[in-house]
Amino acid sequence: MEYQRLGKSGLHLSRLSFGSWVTFSFQVDDNPAAELMAKAYDAGVNFFDNAEVYAAGKSEEIMGRALGSLGWTRDSYCVSSKVYWGGDKPTQRGLSRKHIHDACHAAMKRLRVDYLDLYFCHRPDVETPIEETVRAMHDLIQQGKVLYWGTSEWNAQQITEAYSVARQFGLTPPTMEQPEYNMFNREKVEREFHPLYDLVGLGTTIWSPLASGVLTGKYRDGVPQGSRIDLEEYAWLKERLIDSPEGQANIEKARQLEKIADGAGMSLARMAVAWCMKNPNVSTVILGASKVSQLEENLKAVDDAAKLDDSMMNAIEEVLRNKPELPPRF
Ligand code: NDP
Repeated sequence: MEYQRLGKSGLHLSRLSFGSWVTFSFQVDDNPAAELMAKAYDAGVNFFDNAEVYAAGKSEEIMGRALGSLGWTRDSYCVSSKVYWGGDKPTQRGLSRKHIHDACHAAMKRLRVDYLDLYFCHRPDVETPIEETVRAMHDLIQQGKVLYWGTSEWNAQQITEAYSVARQFGLTPPTMEQPEYNMFNREKVEREFHPLYDLVGLGTTIWSPLASGVLTGKYRDGVPQGSRIDLEEYAWLKERLIDSPEGQANIEKARQLEKIADGAGMSLARMAVAWCMKNPNVSTVILGASKVSQLEENLKAVDDAAKLDDSMMNAIEEVLRNKPELPPRF
């Protein structure tokens, strides 16, 4: 495993980490979840990602029971949660001081830890002043309940504002952002955030490196049984990733990318994960897996990043830049 500092902080995270979105509770329960986490940890993974909204808290409960049974020392791994969607009542959502306070304590209880290493504002909240959110995060850090705080799917302007407010009032600024990043979604990480890497030392913990599995090539001949997009709760994902014209165009691109991966003797999944790791502004790539075999395969990407030489990167770029033929909208 390789390790890299989370932005300009002193925290060394594994370049590959492991998250539980969709999988924990909907696809795997306690035993396979602990098995997946053990597989990741044994391969050197030291960061496990979660959120209050994943399976409405059940995902954190499963991870908490796994952490309890696996018996790892608390100083050998990092665990995160994210705050924003806690429930239906007005006080149970958003980034108010109250919800951040309540959500942090509830997450620690579900995860069975007495502090969160990383804590993310899962989305921006336009109804809460940024100063209130920054102060609430700063206070949790002062209380020792959170070590590093950050954002997820905020834009560069919102992150800059949070940073400026923190600097103005002597509060702790955000350390990291959690954006989507994969071969099909690059704009934010490669362009929009570019000034922030130097300016504020932003770290990134990127999500969906395989675009929910499309970048494994598995959807070329339909939807395999047991896939996440087969789940009733995630029908919207099927619409976006498979049924839409963009989805179909991406499946075709995946088919072409698979040929490049074949030529280099690796699977498309490994090539797609390695491609994310090649970007030095990506602190850690959060993997998702519903089966141990998937995780084993994707962890091999650690050795593949060095194999992605210029000619391979150019060949990938050519496929990605090829504008898909989309049907007219009207
Ligand atoms: P990926 O894009 O890597 O998708 C993972 C899924 O792809 C797996 O669960 C599995 O789905 C399939 N898959 C993985 N490897 C293989 C393989 N080798 N062969 C075939 N299929 C494979 O990542 P996620 O979308 O899961 O995101 C990773 C993590 O990022 C999440 O767990 C979460 O922690 C975080 N995240 C954060 C978000 C945010 O807003 N901050 C949003 C989304 C994710 P299947 O079961 O269908 O086979």
